Amino acid sequence: MKDYFFENKKIKSVLTTWLDQEYIETSNFPLLNEVFKKEYLFILSQLKLGNKKELFINDSYFEKATYIIHKFSNNPWILQSEILDYFKINSGDLLILNDIIRSSQLFQDIILKEGIGKKYWNSIIPFAKNTDLVLNKKTSLPKRIVIFPGVSCMFFCGFCGRNQSAKYPMSSVANGTQIFKNLFEETKNNTLYSIGGGLEPTTNPQLGEIIELANKSNIRMPLITNGYSLTENFVKRNPGIWKLDSLRLSLYGVDEDSYYFITRLKKSYSMVIKNSINFLKLRNEINPKLKFGLNFIVIPENIDQVLKILNLVGEINNNVTNGRGVDFITLRDDFQSATGHEEIADEEKKKYKLHSKMDDKLREKLFKVLNEFKKIREKNFPDLHIDYGYSIFAVSRGVVSQGLNMIESERLPDYGYPQLSLAIDLYGDVFLYREAGFLERFGNKKFIIGRLNEKNNLEEIIENFLNNSSPIKYDKSDTKFMDSFDHVLGSIINQAKEDKDAQIPFDKGPILARSNLTKLNLGNNWYTDELI
Ligand code: SF4
Repeated sequence: MKDYFFENKKIKSVLTTWLDQEYIETSNFPLLNEVFKKEYLFILSQLKLGNKKELFINDSYFEKATYIIHKFSNNPWILQSEILDYFKINSGDLLILNDIIRSSQLFQDIILKEGIGKKYWNSIIPFAKNTDLVLNKKTSLPKRIVIFPGVSCMFFCGFCGRNQSAKYPMSSVANGTQIFKNLFEETKNNTLYSIGGGLEPTTNPQLGEIIELANKSNIRMPLITNGYSLTENFVKRNPGIWKLDSLRLSLYGVDEDSYYFITRLKKSYSMVIKNSINFLKLRNEINPKLKFGLNFIVIPENIDQVLKILNLVGEINNNVTNGRGVDFITLRDDFQSATGHEEIADEEKKKYKLHSKMDDKLREKLFKVLNEFKKIREKNFPDLHIDYGYSIFAVSRGVVSQGLNMIESERLPDYGYPQLSLAIDLYGDVFLYREAGFLERFGNKKFIIGRLNEKNNLEEIIENFLNNSSPIKYDKSDTKFMDSFDHVLGSIINQAKEDKDAQIPFDKGPILARSNLTKLNLGNNWYTDELI
């Protein structure tokens, strides 16, 4: 049933039409209705429900099941209490409906892979199983750590939350490398890592060594860089860079002017493109397995540039004369670490700052651009993988009414979620939220839960924080310390708590993988859509 369903283009297209609009009964889509009903009745016949079975054969219960599938495909955050309220049924009946949906591989695949919530599900699934650790305040090493080895940054991006006058002393580099080494040895590859900013990672002269140390602990390492210092010389002095799993270059424009507008550094565009071409040529010689991609944050000011990214990829690829060029593009939402907040202190004064936000009208415009983008990619760059951000994925399907899922600061967990995700900087400071990890960012101190040194380890820091500290007192604007991934994790924790309170915890909900995922591929998935 499952394979036939997904290979049948006609059914798939009806499914997308059904999913991409507000819920209507599947009886309006005969083709879909037939497949769904067959699957529903088959699963029902397999379950031991005694005399309850009669009730669930009823069309109205079948429709309830399709409603749940539709809702969860598009909105992974929906609560069990909301479903109960909507149907006005008792929780026993909802448990049975959940069981039916959870037992069907077809329904699971539709929810996790076919709706506009797909990109969220990719992030949720690896972490949902561990929400109990957070709710029960259990000590555990995090599933994901981003390290910030950068010493400084040469750019002044208008959507960046960094303190533009802060940088680490060069003397902190060696100690930082030792701290990262100990950390890798402590967590091994049970934790998913990435190197990002924080400040710009390539300003650390020992970056190659750090990657090599991670590699020795069998850690697959992706790097996020602005590419400005990724020169021939830097790469020569940091051969460890070839041990990266992937490199994602943050693209801030598509020509000299647009680059300058964001970075405020003259000639930054030509430098970055030159470095990219050089890096790719060497990559093809030294480690062709390393994936190279470009990341672009879509903001109102640059929607018109999205199409031009493909011209740029063409230009880079034409100059890489010895093999493969750019492997992937990630298009990302602005999570408003800086743009959504007013400056509240002199410490936050920046060279310039962007303020605008995406709205439905702008998303409509982006949808049109993405349509064209897809066509050109298909024709000219068939091997180029495109990874859409959480809400941009919905826009790419023509659903423009949903922005990025963002949690309110009063709903943030008392102790964050150090068992799931942390950020660690060059000093060894351990940050609860990823956008807090900017050196001396105003207001970030309360999110530092300890500092790694030669005498302690991360597990002790987490244990001490959970057992001996007071809950975090959040201010309204504290969401500026969270990136879009943090918003997702915060939302999962709240959902896990509320579903538990409603006596329908994740393992009794409609999604099997939230509680029963045996094999996890916690790789970065910039260059593939595969989840597990
Ligand atoms: S976004 Fe990155 S490159 Fe831009 S100023 Fe911030 S740290 Fe530097």
